[in-house]
Amino acid sequence: MTKHPKSNLVLRILYFLLLTNCCWLFGSQLIAKETGRSDTSLTEEKLMLVANRLKSLGLSEEKAHEFLLQLTSIGGRLTGSPQAEEAVKRAVELMKELNFDRVWTEPVTVNRWVRGEKEIGLLKSRKFGQQKINVAALGNSLATTEEGLEAGLVEVHSFRELEKLGEKVIKGKIVFFNQPMDRTLINPFMAYGQAAQFRVKGASAAAKYGAVAVMVRSATFRIDEHPHTGLMTYESGLPKIPAVSVATADAEKISRWLKEDPEIRIFLKTSCQQLGPVVSHNVIGELTGTKSPKEIILVGGHLDSWDLSPGAHDDAAGCAVAVEALRLIKDCGLKPARTIRAVLFMDEEFGGTGGRAYATAPQRAGEKHLLAIEQDQGGGVPLGLAVGKTPELLNKISPLTRVLQKLGLHWVKNGGGGVDIAPLVEQGCLAGTIVPNTQRYFDFHHSALDVPEAVHPRELQLQALALALTLYYFSQEGI
Ligand SMILES: [Zn+2]
Repeated sequence: MTKHPKSNLVLRILYFLLLTNCCWLFGSQLIAKETGRSDTSLTEEKLMLVANRLKSLGLSEEKAHEFLLQLTSIGGRLTGSPQAEEAVKRAVELMKELNFDRVWTEPVTVNRWVRGEKEIGLLKSRKFGQQKINVAALGNSLATTEEGLEAGLVEVHSFRELEKLGEKVIKGKIVFFNQPMDRTLINPFMAYGQAAQFRVKGASAAAKYGAVAVMVRSATFRIDEHPHTGLMTYESGLPKIPAVSVATADAEKISRWLKEDPEIRIFLKTSCQQLGPVVSHNVIGELTGTKSPKEIILVGGHLDSWDLSPGAHDDAAGCAVAVEALRLIKDCGLKPARTIRAVLFMDEEFGGTGGRAYATAPQRAGEKHLLAIEQDQGGGVPLGLAVGKTPELLNKISPLTRVLQKLGLHWVKNGGGGVDIAPLVEQGCLAGTIVPNTQRYFDFHHSALDVPEAVHPRELQLQALALALTLYYFSQEGI
């Protein structure tokens, strides 16, 4: 059989590409000698070759979702729980199986809060009868008494409104914070930030005027039956009262009915409690830098989650893409000049003790963190890279910008950050985030809906791909 001339040509081109590619990747010292200039400078063309390798491997295998399934199969990983410790164990095993250069854990002391029995919420009305409402205790909240509590309801939409009503109206009542997330804001995180203040600070604000409990509308754009939990805090010096979230469909109904029957009463029974501090762990794996091993390019997600679901978007997704980014770099045969490190932080949800423990650990002595990327906005398709604070940095990384755009990202701009890397950023490290599409993120966030099926494997993989390229670029080029 004669060979087709066209396939011969294709073979020759492939051979040429392979040869040039290998020269650059593995024979870089030789090139540097011959050209008399540094071989580490990543031009757009060189970076595109890297991107193509990462793309071929990453998109064909979609391993990020596989890693996400491994974590979520444990269930909810509430900080300090046995499930969170199981997640630590499995994350260590996974990184070891993937042959990262170093894998270890570092201790973090965390508080352990447990939900206890499923909460009971009842609406009692002379006009509408008795109806079940969907409530969930907020993280850190005290419980009601064993008998539960029952009281009349006062609906408010702002702290100012609460203040205006004052003790005369509020005393002895349950305060119902019913401020929806603002749908007119394009960025869902902005809308979340506004709405979540009632969850975080509402109990103490209401206790100041004699309220006996608070019920806070769930922070989501959706109208459904699922309460969304999250952290609340008590202000010192004020009485501590129980705090629950209520599903948006119930919040809408209660608000409507209150207008027709202001005498509505709410019964709440919760049995959450604090079990005191326990020792947990951050999990760390790295590809050690070949030239500057003490200079670190970090990527992080958080291992802990809320307990109402297996926390797939929040934040098994962030952990999965961090691990997958390192695997891709390693399995593509790329040798980072600076260390690329994945940190799976413990205890983001209850206040970020993992991030603080990492930044101040004795192991940090002698290390210099140049860039820390935090992935904690769900597993959606990547839209852009937010990084650093100056236009100069953006100018400098223009080859990366152009290649990320070829991978489907729309923009690179200043920004990035997160709870876990904040202590590193305070020490002068630059922040970054591969920003995904978050328009649907709060549908799932902190609720029973945050399951693995809610994360699309290809969208998650595209996030890992953009991340791998970004990490590798900064490991070669520095800041
Ligand atoms: Zn999170």
